[in-house]
Amino acid sequence: MAGGFAKDGAVQDQIDATIADAVSHARHRLPHGESLENCANCDKPIPLARREAIPGVRLCVSCQETEDKQAVTNSGYNRRGSKDSQLR
Ligand SMILES: [Zn+2]
Repeated sequence: MAGGFAKDGAVQDQIDATIADAVSHARHRLPHGESLENCANCDKPIPLARREAIPGVRLCVSCQETEDKQAVTNSGYNRRGSKDSQLR
C-alpha cells in the first residue's frame, strides 16, 4: 500500500463512501419531536400524510428534496475537490 492512487478501485471506493456518508447524514438529520404544519423554509402547508409518515418533519417535499440534493452535492464536491478535478 504505497504511493499513488489505483484509479478504478479508488473511484468506486469514493462512490461507496459518499453514499455511506449521505445515509449516515440522513439518519442523523432525521427530525424528531413534533411535526410542523407549515414548512419551516417556504411556509407552505405540509400534508397530514407527510407529517404522519415522518415524525418531526419540518420541510415540505420540495424544500426537503432541495436540501437533500445540496447535502449530497456538497459532500461529493468536497471529496473530489482536492484530487484530480482541479487539475483539468
Ligand atoms: Zn417548503
